[in-house]
Amino acid sequence: MVKLPENMKAIVKDGPHYGAKMMTVDVPKDLGAHEVLVKVKAVSICGTDLHIWLWNEWAKKHINVPQILGHEFAGEVVAVGSEVSLVKIGDFVSSETHIPCGHCKQCRTGNMHVCQNLKILGVDMNGAFAEYVKVPEIVLWKNDPSIPSIWASVQEPLGNAIHTIFTEDVAGKNVLVTGAGPIGLLAIGVLKTAGAAKIIVSEINEYRRNLAKEIGADVTVNPKNQSLVDIVKKETDGDGADVLIEMSGNPQALHDGLASLTNAGRASLLGVYDKDVQINLNDLVIFKAIRIYGITGRKMFETWYKGAELLKNKKLDLSKIITHVLDFDDYEKGFKLMEEGKCGKVVLKL
Ligand code: NAD
Ligand code: ZN
Repeated sequence: MVKLPENMKAIVKDGPHYGAKMMTVDVPKDLGAHEVLVKVKAVSICGTDLHIWLWNEWAKKHINVPQILGHEFAGEVVAVGSEVSLVKIGDFVSSETHIPCGHCKQCRTGNMHVCQNLKILGVDMNGAFAEYVKVPEIVLWKNDPSIPSIWASVQEPLGNAIHTIFTEDVAGKNVLVTGAGPIGLLAIGVLKTAGAAKIIVSEINEYRRNLAKEIGADVTVNPKNQSLVDIVKKETDGDGADVLIEMSGNPQALHDGLASLTNAGRASLLGVYDKDVQINLNDLVIFKAIRIYGITGRKMFETWYKGAELLKNKKLDLSKIITHVLDFDDYEKGFKLMEEGKCGKVVLKL
């Protein structure tokens, strides 16, 4: 048995206001029969963490303070509950964020990611921005030791990109990605490995447009001063894109993305919208015979297998997508970079 300390450092949302504090808290040692304690090696900052940091309307409704932030991580198993059989002490692991009940209709029919009783790590319970995190066995994922912990920590958002892209046949297709935030950038990397013919990326942030180009976008568009529909039409011999990958959560991007699709095109929507979105369904979807697919999280664990295999076999290079690796203590800098959008994925190392 590894000797565990009493206390640990953790990034805690300490009150109903902007920011979060590095605090000393108890190491969680009260493991249930199916729970596992992981010593965290690397964590990655997600848009959800930023919402909690900014204390926006969503965070006010969903987060009970005080709470440890974070859910994208990689680390080593240091203690296991009495009934745990999936992992053992010393295993290198990451974790799914969506914690399913295992009993509802969705869980029993291959759709655990949309479990009716879903709990989310770092949202409904203490998260992984800490030296140790407690997680139920059901969501653990064993990493191949050859994958660096920094890369292993971003498999969860990578899974969002993989789930969104592999829902449709993208090989040899013209694909439009709207929004090149951290997940949109991961999507560009995945689309390259998946053999997309042409990757067109729409993004309002110049830093991220440039990064999108570096990662492999064939064409980048600034929809603030260029017509997305015109450019997509021009780039596809007048046909329009075959597949839309919506990763901005912006209503105008959704509208223009759908308008840029060819007839009988496909749309996979990952972006989450602040409020109800109005679009002309007749013109943009029905008479164009568009198929729209809503994406929540990752398929458990089909998506994880795909992501891990791509990383293990060195088919996907994350070095340009992870733009910043900072010390855990420099978390404020990491959150500022996310706020300004001057980054791809930001990882903190412990
Ligand atoms: P993000 O907010 O960091 O990135 C969105 C990007 O879209 C930003 O770079 C922004 O500049 C860009 N953008 C904004 N308006 C635009 C416009 N009109 N046209 C083109 N680009 C525009 O988010 P992220 O972390 O990369 O995640 C992508 C989206 O997916 C977000 O909406 C997020 O909330 C959502 N998300 C959904 C799930 C899910 O399970 N469905 C999971 C994670 C994230
Ligand atoms: Zn369930």
